[in-house]
Amino acid sequence: MDKVLTDSERPPDPTPPGLAPYAADPARARRQHDEQVIGIRAQKSLHRSEFQRDRDRIIHSAAFRRLEYKTQVFINHEGDHFRTRLTHSLEVAQIARSVARHLRLNEDLTEAIALAHDLGHTPFGHAGQDALNQCMSGHGGFEHNLQSLRVVDQLEQRYAAFDGLNLCFETREGILKHCSRNQARLLGEVGQRFLDGGQPGLEAQLANLADEIAYNNHDIEDGLRAGLLQPEALMELALVAEAVRGIQAQYGELPRRRWVGELQRRLIDAMVSDLIDTSAAALQRSAPASMAAVRRSPAIFAFSPAMHAQVVEMKQFLRRHLYRHPAVSSKMAEAHRVLTDLFRHFHAHPGDLPEEHRVRFEEQGERALADYLAGMTDRFALKEARRLGIAIDLLA
Ligand code: MG
Repeated sequence: MDKVLTDSERPPDPTPPGLAPYAADPARARRQHDEQVIGIRAQKSLHRSEFQRDRDRIIHSAAFRRLEYKTQVFINHEGDHFRTRLTHSLEVAQIARSVARHLRLNEDLTEAIALAHDLGHTPFGHAGQDALNQCMSGHGGFEHNLQSLRVVDQLEQRYAAFDGLNLCFETREGILKHCSRNQARLLGEVGQRFLDGGQPGLEAQLANLADEIAYNNHDIEDGLRAGLLQPEALMELALVAEAVRGIQAQYGELPRRRWVGELQRRLIDAMVSDLIDTSAAALQRSAPASMAAVRRSPAIFAFSPAMHAQVVEMKQFLRRHLYRHPAVSSKMAEAHRVLTDLFRHFHAHPGDLPEEHRVRFEEQGERALADYLAGMTDRFALKEARRLGIAIDLLA
């Protein structure tokens, strides 16, 4: 571990130009393994900050590339225009970076957290996560958020000297958005805040809300595009109704594609503006003097109560009309079954696993199987199902 300096040991450290005092300071970033001590590099940084390094490690990871072929809501092969986990992660990063720069937070750290936040997602979105969690009941369960941390801490193999990517603590605490107390006890320092009720840094708080803004809005766009959501039904959402009135007043009737685009940008703008105004006011009130003070304060990043209520309403609407739409849920039910069958098959026939994963399964048990399945893309999972004679109907 890098030595943690107490405040009195720390040399006077002027705030890096442009960053607010409560922003994460890359000069104080700590990694799990001190790379100077283990001889990976001679000095801390030549031309990139520690958080830029983290972002770059994430972008160059195998898990990041696989996001391209993982489901967000629509199964990966259903159409080239729908979001995948990769484009979702890029949209989260875009929103989070814009807000970070405006509020003088560390944009590089925000970007790193946003790009990494879904690295642990299974194939087939939440259906895959639920299936794997059921398969793993009795073996510690499966949770995609914990898995994202596991990917960057242990599963990536890019360094001779250690497993994982050896990311900074600040990035890792941002990736671990939620965690049970039982799990937190197993995670050491990064789990500590779930035991004593602390908050992560502002960059992490921001990335989490940028995720909500991104997925709620793009699911509306994808749902409209797929013809599963109807504009008339969406009008029950006050936020949508207001945006639609604005579009109507400014442009009158628009062709569907442009109308959807206008709606999307107005919704995102309304949510981002509310987030900035509410959070900037909270920052002014609490005026945290440092990232350490942020961690001790109640959560600072938030929507206003009115916007929060609208976001909750939007999520409930999407659950009812999109995630539980028969066209989506029938495929998700099959995806759930396919992933469960894959787990059971490999469990009963480890010889059908690739050598590396068979050995890990023998040494580490079911967790190794969960790691292998969670790492799969939609299309690879389907290819494996075909190879092993597992029935695919709706997803074929
Ligand atoms: Mg996400």
